[in-house]
Amino acid sequence: MTEMRATPREKIAPIVASLRDTARSRATHSRRFRVEGLKALRRMLDEQSHRIALALREDLGKSETEALATEIGVVKSEVDHTLLHLTDWMEPTPVKVPLAFQPASAQVAPRPLGTVLIIAPWNYPFQLAINPLVGAIAAGNTVVVKPSEKAPATSKVIAELVEEYVDPRAVRVVEGGAEAVTELLEQRFDHIFYTGGERVGRIVYEAAAKQLTPVTLELGGKSPCVVSDGRNWQTIARRIVFGKFTNAGQTCVAPDYVLAVGARSERELEKRVPEVISEFYGTNPEASKDYARLVDVAQAERLEALLQGALSGPNPARLVSGGRVDAASRYMEPTVLADVDPDSELMQEEIFGPILPIIRVDTFDEAIAFITERPHPLAAYLFTDRHRYHKAFQEQVTAGGLGFDVALLHAGLHTLPFGGVGPSGMGSYHGEASFRTFSQMRPSLTKSDQVDTLRMAYPPYTWPKRQA
Ligand code: NAD
Repeated sequence: MTEMRATPREKIAPIVASLRDTARSRATHSRRFRVEGLKALRRMLDEQSHRIALALREDLGKSETEALATEIGVVKSEVDHTLLHLTDWMEPTPVKVPLAFQPASAQVAPRPLGTVLIIAPWNYPFQLAINPLVGAIAAGNTVVVKPSEKAPATSKVIAELVEEYVDPRAVRVVEGGAEAVTELLEQRFDHIFYTGGERVGRIVYEAAAKQLTPVTLELGGKSPCVVSDGRNWQTIARRIVFGKFTNAGQTCVAPDYVLAVGARSERELEKRVPEVISEFYGTNPEASKDYARLVDVAQAERLEALLQGALSGPNPARLVSGGRVDAASRYMEPTVLADVDPDSELMQEEIFGPILPIIRVDTFDEAIAFITERPHPLAAYLFTDRHRYHKAFQEQVTAGGLGFDVALLHAGLHTLPFGGVGPSGMGSYHGEASFRTFSQMRPSLTKSDQVDTLRMAYPPYTWPKRQA
């Protein structure tokens, strides 16, 4: 097992200072420099994908296919999309000038922010560190990347590969946990991009506020999944199982719980979800190469306690399938619960693991009320054949993003901005949204002084004007 590594504290301030020097020199501003940085990342992904996948296997037991699909491949296509569109995105956009201001021209032009900090979590430890880096490089910034210490093999690989492939004047990796972040937050950055839980999100936000540093917060929450009036139950069950149990449920946009509208939905899901789990991972998922592990023993113990809590207490849930935990080997069986008490501990915090509670509601409106009376989630999903429900969901549900008849996928499109709302986060990224997040969209106006058409605007405001 790879040991956690930490950049010595006293090295952090000089690293940031050197990146600030580069930013001041404007060396990273040119299109050429940005393209070279992106191409270096692309080469790194092509040449080192096996090494990255091995680290992800060590940290989270991800299969190579899953690592390629959900981490390395996602970043590759983000780089390609960015390279394809960068010239367009960098172009200033002319805007209309009202008659009263004419003759004049106005535009909005993206400008690098300067030096930015990216703090990444452990669940997709490669993708969530390097994907925002793509946007930060594309926007012409210098960057500190701080990978998660809870995925130490991936953190080490990121540090070594970035050093090997990317210009160190522009990008540096700082490793370590809370102590490293605390030291980083004492430095001055022009933007902080944080992905992770709410508790640390608050720490980052408070520290940023002291220096008036703008932030993007990519947080989590309990993402609901409503199932009502399906026709193709098999596909519905497959898509829910795929959304929930990929990476053993440690996905920020995984369906946290299912609201089954009516007895039919509940019955179908209780029958088909366990069947699909066996179809995907076999009757013993522990032996499946495609089923991931929890990040550490503490997570396994937290989830085991949540499960035991749900199965005991005044209104115990019913175990539909799974339930086995081996904390020492970080394994938890894909687990499905029914009759879950909405007031139980399980329904208060983000599960972030392979437990799928199914809660029966009688009507679609009840499902909507259940969602809207809780904090805004990062994602909300609806499986339905009814256009009316689709429309009502769009109108009534506030969430970072929505998925209809499919879970997770909206987070994979470069053309859709990705982010939370309220307690699930602020700001967004992916594709052009990343480029804009890491740029100042700077407005400017040019008005020739050859003829002074502004004379009417100057004081004194009496008539007739005394000016010549
Ligand atoms: P984590 O423990 O890896 O922490 C995130 C980062 O915060 C790490 O880099 C860590 O070093 C740092 N950190 C930890 N403790 C700190 C402290 N006391 N002071 C300063 N920095 C500290 O990840 P996590 O928070 O367990 O991540 C899980 C959460 O992240 C879930 O809520 C999940 O939904 C959310 N998440 C959101 C997204 C998204 O895109 N919105 C993606 C992935 C995960």
